[in-house]
Amino acid sequence: MTDAFRQHAWRILEQLKVPIMTLDMMGYLTSWNQGAEQLFGYTPQEAIGQHVLFLYADEAGDGETQLAEILPEQGDAVMEVWRRKKSGENFKAVLTISLLRDDEQQPLGLVAQLSEVTQTLAPLDRQRLHASIIEDSDQGILITDIHERIVSVNAAFTSITGYLPHEAVGQTTDLLRSGVHDADFRGRVLAAMQGSGPWQGEIVGKRKSGELFPQSVSISVVRNEAGLVTHAFSIFSDISVLRETEARMQRLTNFDSLTGLPNRAHFHQLVDQGLAAARRNEGCGAILTIDLRRFDTVNETFGHEIGDELLRQVAKRFRQTLRDEDVLARTAADEFVVALLSVQKREHSGIVAQKLLATLKPGFVIESIVLHVGASIGISVFPEDGMDTITLLQFADVAVKRLKAEGESGYLLYSPEMNQRAKERWQLEGELRQALAAEQLLLHFQPKVSLRNGRIVGAEALIRWMHPEKGMISPAFFIPMAEETGLILDIGDWVLEETCRQIRRWKLAGTDMPVVSVNISARQFDQLLPVRIGAALDRHGLPAACLQLEITESLLVRGTDGVVQIMNDLVAMGLVLSMDDFGTGYSSLAYLKRFPITALKIDRSFVVGIPGDDNDCAIARAIVTMAQQLRQEIVAEGVETKAQMHFLRALGCDQMQGFLFSPAVAADELARMVREDVRLNLD
Ligand code: C2E
Ligand code: MG
Ligand code: MG
Repeated sequence: MTDAFRQHAWRILEQLKVPIMTLDMMGYLTSWNQGAEQLFGYTPQEAIGQHVLFLYADEAGDGETQLAEILPEQGDAVMEVWRRKKSGENFKAVLTISLLRDDEQQPLGLVAQLSEVTQTLAPLDRQRLHASIIEDSDQGILITDIHERIVSVNAAFTSITGYLPHEAVGQTTDLLRSGVHDADFRGRVLAAMQGSGPWQGEIVGKRKSGELFPQSVSISVVRNEAGLVTHAFSIFSDISVLRETEARMQRLTNFDSLTGLPNRAHFHQLVDQGLAAARRNEGCGAILTIDLRRFDTVNETFGHEIGDELLRQVAKRFRQTLRDEDVLARTAADEFVVALLSVQKREHSGIVAQKLLATLKPGFVIESIVLHVGASIGISVFPEDGMDTITLLQFADVAVKRLKAEGESGYLLYSPEMNQRAKERWQLEGELRQALAAEQLLLHFQPKVSLRNGRIVGAEALIRWMHPEKGMISPAFFIPMAEETGLILDIGDWVLEETCRQIRRWKLAGTDMPVVSVNISARQFDQLLPVRIGAALDRHGLPAACLQLEITESLLVRGTDGVVQIMNDLVAMGLVLSMDDFGTGYSSLAYLKRFPITALKIDRSFVVGIPGDDNDCAIARAIVTMAQQLRQEIVAEGVETKAQMHFLRALGCDQMQGFLFSPAVAADELARMVREDVRLNLD
């Protein structure tokens, strides 16, 4: 850097409006430009040669240390400092300081540049600034005079309300009035505009388009020197988007998306409120739990889309049947609940239940499939059964479970005795677990006889529970319970093992036992079933041909390829599959073709009415005719009378099983019957 250049450079700096000064390494000012003179009021003559400390404000010190200390090793330092002008005025400035070095990199001195931080604005600038802040705000701003006449609005006002400034100015705030607020509310807003104090809240306004919108508003006033209100201003934002999101959230958290009905949580809220009111005015009412029957089967047979549509239609019919003040909610896949929050009498809830059941009667047509669903409805009433939502729901559930256990559609009012039963069931479940371990379970065998020659051609293994106190408990009671809890898996394994062991015993005793069938519940039906059965047979050295499996329709309608594959595996092992309780599920005979099933057992419920009931006879006839076409073997279950036997035999049934010939008997007894070749009298 030449001296000439240095001179030249300084001349530029000197004339700059930016205040710049140089200091030697001790802190004495060595130059002072015009900007510095303007800012501080000192001329170069006054300033140069002074120590820089003479520019420091009284407040200085805070964080500001000796120059030498803050000096950067390599570059610039920037800091906020307080300085004092010649006039005595203190001011805040941003100081940029940098080190000057000579050609040998030795420090020459410091260059300091200051810029004042403007704290106050000139009045005009201030107005301009304020105006632009107001104009650019994304909140709507509305200024009114003491007569509530609009004197000024901003751009956001226009974009929110749709009114251009000239359409709004001169009008009163009635322009935006939605009409949804009462006089009292408006009175409070007006009072705020007249200076009663700031007001903040939500107001429903009306846009130019006529559309109403929720806005969050705050109102304050402007006063003159005398303290009188001259203007009021409202700052507002359109919260309709917020509201929509809120409403959507509300819908999502409180309503079932499939049917649009309240969900369980919301039902609780609504009923809690209803009960609180009922407590005050001693009202009474009821809770109905509605369990759709065989809904699973529909879902499994026809797919979830049909199932979903069915639920929507059911929900719609229920809703139409009920009064507006009744609460209807969907609380589980196939479960609805109703709260009747004011009924005159206990019996009235039964009438509502009947109406609900009746709406299901005509059936539903979905994608040209005709579906029939029934329902079990459990009812609890208040105040008799309780006065809180949870208890009432629990009791309605107890009643519905009771109905379901009996396999019935219809409705049932809760009674305390039922709760007792539910408790007993609970207890029994624990006991069943123990029974399995304590060897209280045993197998009985019911012979199947040929309708051609009356001879025993098979037997069904039926489980029995010998309860130490309660005596023999029916599997019709504990098997469904075991299925619910999953205990059926252990029980099923036990039955398989025990059946194989028994067949082995008969074999060793030299009894020529016909094939024995075992009931397999749907929950046992998994990929490993063939392996488990194979292992049980192996353990007892038995061929697969001595076992037959009875499966139920509910399994078929699960209809997945997985199920078919497992069935094929079982058949490939040499096992015979028969379908139990045929006619009670949804499956049609045509549907059956897909499965490798050899025999059909006509359910006892169709046999009961034979030969008196035309309907039962027609069903039995249809089943037999079609089964013959599919070359299925037909077994009639639960034959108790000769008349039934004759009818079924004439129809073409192959076998029968029932009390007419024999109930399920102990293993030894069956062996005796087989050995003695006891036959059914076919006359
Ligand atoms: P299921 O497989 O349909 O068995 C036939 C049921 O009808 C048996 O009842 C049998 O005793 C009864 N029964 C037979 N003939 C007559 C008759 O002429 N009149 C009447 N009224 N009833 C008759 P049980 O033994 O009480 O079994 C009921 C159900 O429990 C069985 O129905 C079956 O679904 C289930 N079950 C029984 N043992 C087992 C088992 O080891 N495993 C599985 N998963 N379920 C079983
Ligand atoms: Mg069976
Ligand atoms: Mg059966």
